[in-house]
Amino acid sequence: MDDVLNNPLFEAFANASDNVYIYVCDVKKDLSRWSTNAVSFFDLPGEYINNAGELWGQKIHPEDKDIYFNDIGAVFSGNKAHHSCQYRALNRFGKYVWLECKGSMLRDENGELATFAGIMTRLDRQNKYDTLTGLLTKYEFYEFDFSSGSGVVMLLGVDGFRSIINTYGYYYGDELLTAIAKKLQSLCSGSLKAYRFNGDEFIILLPNKDRGAAEDIFHRVKNDTRLIETKDGKKIDLSISAGAVEYSEGRSDKDEIVSRLELALSYVKRVNRGSLGFYSRDIEVKQLRERALKEDLRESIADDFRGFELYFQPLVDAKGAKILGCEALLRWKGEHIRDAGPMEFIPILEESGDINSVGRWVMRQAIRQQKEWEEKFGQLRINFNVSYRQFLEADYVKELQAAVNEFGVSPDNLVLELTESCNVESPENLAKIFEEIRSMGFHIALDDFGTGYASMELLKKLPADEIKIEHSFVRELANGKHHKADLAIIDSLLFLCRKLDNKVVVEGVENKAVDDIIRSMGPDFLQGYYYSRPVCKTDFEEMLKNGIS
Ligand code: C2E
Ligand code: CA
Repeated sequence: MDDVLNNPLFEAFANASDNVYIYVCDVKKDLSRWSTNAVSFFDLPGEYINNAGELWGQKIHPEDKDIYFNDIGAVFSGNKAHHSCQYRALNRFGKYVWLECKGSMLRDENGELATFAGIMTRLDRQNKYDTLTGLLTKYEFYEFDFSSGSGVVMLLGVDGFRSIINTYGYYYGDELLTAIAKKLQSLCSGSLKAYRFNGDEFIILLPNKDRGAAEDIFHRVKNDTRLIETKDGKKIDLSISAGAVEYSEGRSDKDEIVSRLELALSYVKRVNRGSLGFYSRDIEVKQLRERALKEDLRESIADDFRGFELYFQPLVDAKGAKILGCEALLRWKGEHIRDAGPMEFIPILEESGDINSVGRWVMRQAIRQQKEWEEKFGQLRINFNVSYRQFLEADYVKELQAAVNEFGVSPDNLVLELTESCNVESPENLAKIFEEIRSMGFHIALDDFGTGYASMELLKKLPADEIKIEHSFVRELANGKHHKADLAIIDSLLFLCRKLDNKVVVEGVENKAVDDIIRSMGPDFLQGYYYSRPVCKTDFEEMLKNGIS
């Protein structure tokens, strides 16, 4: 036997790692030696192989043969000293695996090619432990045998991790992940295992445990990670959400478990942040619809807002029966989803940020409509909805001005309703924008005005022209429940607004009884199904011609 092949170093390296194979070749004899893990995994005839080049070549994926032979050919013809390429090779299970193959050609004292040696690393096998957190990696999670038993798997994610990184920087992001991993590790004793899954997502595996045990662990994780103190003394508030799946014998498809975990987590993050939610068929149906909705909305927007339309609901004079204006309300029919209402699709647009472009489309349509109707039917004001983030857009005010100039509309006939006022983070900043918009002649309304602290705070800080009283007080008037309290609330809101010189719109007037009560309290405008539901353009034109029947 040749010394080159039977070097003790070969023995040492051959057992260094499961995922690395080594080989050495006596070029003159064309005899090579392969580590035993390679012999077994690639089903080679033995440790020592004559003319291995040909045999190995047959194992390489047809698409990768050229890359391999070109590179190895250059080395064996003496044109280059090092072999380095990636290719797929057939293993003994009949599957191709990706390998990174590196080798070096050594010459003897006469300068002739003598020894070729190198290593092949499996690219599909990754580390067992995560380098940042020290937890087991997702590859280890995928190795777990779900077929022999039952239990719970939990996927945990940090809420708003991206914005934490934006605020504090990547360095703190890593520190937080490490701190969370440490807590998880300390809570996972016995058969429980913690893994780093993706980015800010972790998995806790609870074999032979039930929902109750998962809930218990989740609450302990939540409590222990509520506030993380960094090495330099910063205190960062943290919230964690989790999705969970119960697995049982016979139902062990890992990809299915993982996709259900992701589904449950993304659902929880959206509807009930900071809690634990178990996968259910119901959640899956909702998520699938939301995904389809998102896709459909994106296509509509890209196709010049195809499927979007404005409906109009009259605003009636509270001292007579005249239609003084209307609120423009968005409707949408997608190519696949035809029945989504604004309460369903607007939050999706808000979340994706598309509300900015759709809102601009609404603004331009409403302004164009005002011009058309004013020419046909005389003076009429149009209210349209604007979400908080639209007001914050850099060019919003400019575009508003450009649209009234383009269509030749007086801003005095336009009312911008601030929707979702509970999201206002900085009233001071918004107040400046409102000032500017009002100084240009537009009016501002605060929508869904209630009795909460946030509403009062906004009333105090935001310069507005109108208040729209939240439907819920008004609608309750009709069924008599809390009748006295609702009346008192509406009455005091009206009193407050009069003191502040704000006009008041009462929404949600659904029947004559409510209409009578409200009118006696003296608001300025009425809006509700009693007068009309929101209707399409042509139906609203009928109403403008004939009045409300
Ligand atoms: P909102 O601004 O509070 O609009 C009034 C909602 O109350 C409308 O629902 C209207 O149909 C409904 N409504 C009117 N009268 C009555 C009544 O007597 N009884 C009852 N039960 N409901 C009544 P819609 O059209 O489904 O709109 C829902 C929400 O969607 C709006 O609430 C608004 O927040 C949002 N939205 C609609 N269009 C737009 C838009 O263009 N931009 C933005 N950002 N949001 C919009
Ligand atoms: Ca509104």
